[in-house]
Parts: sequence; C-alpha cells; structure tokens
Amino acid sequence: MAYAEVAVNAAAPIRQTFTYRIPDSLPADRQGMPLGVGHAVYVPFGSRRLQGVVLEVTETPAFPEARDVEAVIDPEPLLSPERVALARWLSDHYLAPLFDCVSLMLPPGFKRRPLTVLRPLVSLDDLPRLGLTERQKAALTHLIARGQAEQDELRKALRLRSVSTLVSGLVLRGFIQRSHELARPQVRPKVVPHLRLLASVSGARRRARTLRDEGGAPALRRAVVLETLADEGPLPLAELRPRGLTAAVLRDLQRQGLAVREDVTVVRDPLAGRMYPKRATPALTAEQEEAYQRIAEALEDGKQPRTFLLHGVTGSGKTEVYLQALEKTVALGKRAIVLVPEISLTPQTVRRFGERFPGQVAVMHSGLSLGEHFDMWHEVRAGRYAVVIGPRGALFAPQPDLGLVVIDEEHEWTYKQQEGSPRYHARAAAEELCRLTGAALVLGSATPDVESHFRSTSGGSHRLLELSQRLQRTESGGVTPSPLPQVEVVDLREELKAGNRGIFSRSLTAGIGGALSAAEQVILFLNRRGTASFLQCRDCGHVPTCTSCAVSLTLHQPENRLVCHYCRRARPAPRACHQCGSPRIRLLGLGTERVEEEARRAFPGARTLRWDRDVTRGRDAHERILARFLAHEADILIGTQMVAKGLDIPLVTLVGVISADTALRFPDFRSGERTFQLLEQVAGRAGRGPRGGRVIIQTYSPEHYAVTAASRHDYHAVYGQEVEFRQRLGYPPFGRLARLVFAHTNEEYAREQAAAMVRYLRGERDQRGLPNLDVLGPGPAFVPRLRGRWRWQVIVRGQDPTELLAEVAFPRGWTVDIDPVSLL
Ligand code: ADP
Ligand code: ZN
Ligand code: ZN
Repeated sequence: MAYAEVAVNAAAPIRQTFTYRIPDSLPADRQGMPLGVGHAVYVPFGSRRLQGVVLEVTETPAFPEARDVEAVIDPEPLLSPERVALARWLSDHYLAPLFDCVSLMLPPGFKRRPLTVLRPLVSLDDLPRLGLTERQKAALTHLIARGQAEQDELRKALRLRSVSTLVSGLVLRGFIQRSHELARPQVRPKVVPHLRLLASVSGARRRARTLRDEGGAPALRRAVVLETLADEGPLPLAELRPRGLTAAVLRDLQRQGLAVREDVTVVRDPLAGRMYPKRATPALTAEQEEAYQRIAEALEDGKQPRTFLLHGVTGSGKTEVYLQALEKTVALGKRAIVLVPEISLTPQTVRRFGERFPGQVAVMHSGLSLGEHFDMWHEVRAGRYAVVIGPRGALFAPQPDLGLVVIDEEHEWTYKQQEGSPRYHARAAAEELCRLTGAALVLGSATPDVESHFRSTSGGSHRLLELSQRLQRTESGGVTPSPLPQVEVVDLREELKAGNRGIFSRSLTAGIGGALSAAEQVILFLNRRGTASFLQCRDCGHVPTCTSCAVSLTLHQPENRLVCHYCRRARPAPRACHQCGSPRIRLLGLGTERVEEEARRAFPGARTLRWDRDVTRGRDAHERILARFLAHEADILIGTQMVAKGLDIPLVTLVGVISADTALRFPDFRSGERTFQLLEQVAGRAGRGPRGGRVIIQTYSPEHYAVTAASRHDYHAVYGQEVEFRQRLGYPPFGRLARLVFAHTNEEYAREQAAAMVRYLRGERDQRGLPNLDVLGPGPAFVPRLRGRWRWQVIVRGQDPTELLAEVAFPRGWTVDIDPVSLL
C-alpha cells in the first residue's frame, strides 16, 4: 500500500503535509504510472474536499488513520521533483505556509476557492410552525427562493458580518444541508473554432472551379472559402467570415464532406505580433570572453552547482555575456530563466533577447491576462521556449531541463517578495533551485549587493567575474572602451549661503541650459520616497541619528518626537541643530510634480516629461513614455527610481540628481549601500552616446562615503565601509535578521502584543540556550499605521533567527519576514 504526503490548500498557515492513502482504484496517468510526486489531487479535509499536491510517496503512513486520495486533478505531474524540493525549502527557510510555496509553481488560475453550499430541506409552508427567529426565517426564505446558495452569498444577502453560527444552528436542526465544493476554475485553455479541408487540396480547387462556373453569389462564396483553405490551410471561422463564410456555407461544406469545423486550442502569447528581426552574435571583447568562458565551463560540466557574480559597470557588456551563455545553454540542449527587476522597465532587455532568439522567448509577468499567463505556463512546461524572462516570479516557471539562471541587476530589492507569503528572495531561491537542478547561476550587477560580493571574495561560494570597461558602439558595429561620466557633487549648504533657495543649484541650472541649447536631453532624478519624515539641518546638513543603531531618527507627529525605528529610543525633536546650533532644521521631501513645475519655470522653452507611478498606469505606459523620450519628443525627463533602470538613450548628456539625501538618510542600515546603487545606476544613464555625458549630484552631505564613492565610481570604497560597519553591528552578511510585525486596529493592543512577543522570545532564547540572538524592540514600524492598522515590530538578529522562530506558533496578526531587505 502506498501513501501520499500532501500539501493541502486549506487557506491556513500550515507548514506540514497530511497523509493520505493512495487507493489502488485511483486512475493512473496516461503512461499508466501510479500517482506520484508533483501530482495535483483532491483530498478530503475535515468535511471539505480540497486541492492538494503530492510532495512525497511512502510505503508506511506517517499517520495510521489516513483517508483516501479522492481524485487526480491533472494526469501530468504539475511540479517536478526539484520544484517540490524547492517548495519545501522555501517553507522551511521563510517559515511560510507550505501550500503558499507550492502555489508559486502551479499553473495560473489553478487555485480554486473552497465554497460552502447550503440547500434548504424544508418548504415555505413549513416555516411558520418551526419556531424560528426572524433571522433564521430570513435565511431559510432566501435559500428556498434560490433553491440553494453559497454561504458567503447568503451572508451578503442578509447583510451580516457572519452567518456561520446561524447556519450551524439550522444544520443541527435538520433544516438545511451543508456541503463543500470548489469554485469554478478561473481559466481554461482558449479554444477557437477553425475550418479545415477534408477534401484534398486539388479536390477542393476542382470543386471551387465548378462552383465559379455555376455563377451566382452563393456559389462564389463557397468557391472563395474553398480556395482560401486550399491556399492557407485551416483557418479560424472568424477570419473566414469576411471572405464569404456564412452559416449556410459552413453547413453545406460540412454536409458535402469538403471541410470540417474543429476546435483548436490556441496559445495566448503576449509577444505575439511583435516581430524582432534576428540579430547576429557579435565577437566578445577580451574581458567578456574571459567571463563567458568561465560560465561556459560550468554549463558544460553541468553537475557542479556554480554561482557567478558578474560585476561590471553599466554598459560594460553584461547582457551580451548573458546572451552568449544562453546560446551555449541551448547548444547543450538545455533551457534558461532570466530574471529582470521589473519587466515594464526593461523593454530593451526583452527586445535584445527576442532579437537573438526569435520565437524562443517567453515573457511571464503579472501584467499578463490570466489566459495569457495560463497558456505561457503550459507552453513553457512543454519545452517550447529556450528562455523565460520575467520578474522574480518567473523563477518558478516550469522550464524543463534547466541549465542556466541569470539574475540581472541582482542587487535590486524587487527580487524580494515583501507583501504576501512566502516572503522569499529570488536570489536565494534561485541558488537553491540551481543546487537542485545542477544549473549555473549568473548574478549580474554594476553595484553588487554587499552580501553577494562578500560571498564572492575569499572563501565564499560565488565566483567573481569582472568587466571593468564601459563599451561604446563604433560606426563599424564593433565596440570601443568609453569613459564613465564625470560626476560633480554640489554642496547644497553652499547654495543656501550664496542665496539660492531654488531646487536647482547654479551648477545644475547651467548644465541644463547648456544641454538644452545643444539640443541634447536631460534626466532629472528624484528619490521615490520623497516624503521621508526625518529632519535635516539646512545649514550644516546634520541629520539626527541613533547612536546604537546607526539609522536616522524619524519624526513622529503630532507628538513631535524623534524615534529610532530599530531600538525605539525616543526624544523630543530639537528646535536647533545639535551640530551647529542653526534653527533651520526641517523636514526633507520633494515630489516629481514640484520638480517639473520648477523646471518649466526655469526653462520655459523646454519640453518636460514626467515618469513616475502616477503617470504610468496601464499596460505599455512605460514603453510609451520611453519611446517618446527616445524620439526626442521631450527635452527633460523627470522621474523616480524608474528612470534609473536600464535606459540607453544616446542624446542624454546630463543627469541631475535633485537630492541624494532622502535615500541617504533613510532609517535603514542598508541606506548607504542603497544610495550608492541608485547614484551609480542613475549616472549610468548619462553619456551612453558619442557626445559623452556628466552627472550632477545635489546634496547636503557631500562628505558621505556613498556620495564620494559615487563621484569616483568606486564600488570597492563603499563595499569596504559597509563590511566594516556591518561586522561591528552584526548585520548581514555577518548575521541574519528576521522582522516580525504585528498589526492591529487598536494601537495600545498592538504595542502590548509586540512587547509580549519580545518577552516571550527572550525567555525562549534563554531557556533554549541560544545566546547569540538579539531580540530588539518592540518599535513602531516606519509606516506606523497602514490601512487602519497600527504596526509594531520586533527584530531578531543573530546567526540563525529561524532556529528560535521555527517553533513559535505566531497568532493572527503577525507577519514574519526572514532575511528582510528592509527594516522599514
Ligand atoms: P550592460 O548589460 O553591462 O549594461 P550591454 O550588454 O548592454 O552592457 O552593452 C553595452 C552596449 O555595448 C550595448 O549596446 C551592446 O549591444 C554593446 N555590446 C556589448 N558587447 C558587445 C560586443 N562584444 N560587440 C559589440 N557590441 C557589444
Ligand atoms: Zn546644523
Ligand atoms: Zn536605535
């Protein structure tokens, strides 16, 4: 007898599997194989029938009273054994519900909502003599009128918050029957009716000629349809209608055995209709060749898991290395997954893959319709595409024979899922997937994450590959090294002293003016979170920080107190700067609209274009804005983080950073690293063309190491500083973090619960002898109130926070984020 360990879609935070007996009577799959790992099944669960996925098959049950698996949902296993193992790893590593982790890898629309269906067992005539309350009467009347109803629908009809007690009472008394079903699937393969010739091509043509000879409109219509099918093969009915197909024609052709109507499953492909001309493979530069060779060796070896960190400045040819590594992968009969931070912001990357591998690129992202997503999933599983490109979730595409995974801009925070479970990091998950499949992993970045770089130095698990030169295309189609843009740092304190109160420094104003008069383009960059709530002295640039946590203190209104979001120490907001005594200590913050206004005022003739979340709603909005700027329909592009990504616009000769300070002073231990990454990335947009380019960074903190390093494009300077400070304070990579947030509508209660959690965790830690763990907090979250709930957080820092947390049963209201990318 065989037993299945099943991850069940019970909509509850369960990290374990449940045991079910596999009955001999259960239909096997198409190959006659018994039910196995990765199969989706229906299982009984309490009184319900739920979906599940088999994670393991055993001979001995882990639970003796196991019930039977009810049915197989899909004859093909939905998950490969490696992906089953990956789901388990995700659940263990991120302390996330097992089915949430399995769900990442299931086809879109697979999950079906469990429904509770109610049927009345009495009639309207019975009601008066049953001794019912008004509410019970109303419920039964509704059910009798409808014949049956879903419990949630009944709740809405009665306008109640909950009807479960009401329903249970009626079930107990035998007045209604309650059963459980699953909601209808949300998506199915798309089927399009086609018309196909049954007659031979020559037979069809002969018949068409006869019809034409007959003459008359009806005969002519039949002739044209037959000729079209003879020329073009089977066609959708919809396409044949304009060419004469009517209901009568269809009936006649079928009756005469000339053609047949057939349902054809079509693929909803989001790239359909986009034709990319095929591009040839260029010869690599010596540096690229060196990097490529190391990756190619790992691909050929195919067994040893290998992670490479490809560190190269923007424009140094990393993408070209990915492309050739992909060619190698394909030549070896394998396939690849390429992750990009956000697909709509990287249309140029998608285009380059499309040009090199026409028809072999699948794009998967959340902007697809459910139908497109569903079809791509099945096509990918069938092995139709050499490469799947997409944001973090594309890692879980069912790409068979995986040989290569690339993570471009690996330092980006978007690779970490922050909202919703499991809160995984695609980089960590990719490492595990590559370990399981033997695929090679290439992490590429101009500004590698400190942790990735740390692991590629002495004794680490990654191998460092470096591209030191920025490339520029020559007339002949080759490349030549080109200098990185010059960076000028403008001290905003000096501007104030000189009487300039505008948001553009004198230097930036002159720069923009110069670029405009030369008919060149300008990008003005602003940090997205422009409304950060921290204080800064306008005279000396000083920002109050917490001495024990090294993060900026946040101003809390209306109490007007400065609070550390890590350790919660608080003090009244100062009226004057502690460093220089100036009373001009203010909140920082500026929005893109304001910058656009100022730019229009200062440069009345210039055409401005704004690019941020507010103006880029809807599909292809990003591409449209980018296309407009590329076509030089605007002179100045004003944007947030989005403008920093992957743009390659030759006419841009000046990039202005309105203020480096908002990023710099963010109360997060990664703010220095983050600022440098941003500045470098923004700088990478300047001077991509033959005219060269420069960057102007405005700041109140010109001496901050992230700024000075960015001005020299010196990654290693920042890296050195970061490693030193993180080692001192036990931050990653020297320790790991877990962030626990409790949210509740009652502020007092939220704080008490968080405090109780701190006491409990400290007690557990001491009792279990885990001395190397700090339990910090409780503190208010950076956004102290979200969607009506107050949020308090607890940070656990140490070698292995999960050791302490894995055994904790977190009550409702808690979210657990292991290895958070931000403590905000
Ligand atoms: P990165 O991905 O590091 O930003 P890219 O791969 O985009 O760099 O390279 C920058 C530019 O140089 C691109 O326009 C690219 O097409 C071109 N390029 C890169 N490598 C080569 C090469 N070996 N031969 C010709 N052009 C190249
Ligand atoms: Zn000051
Ligand atoms: Zn602190």
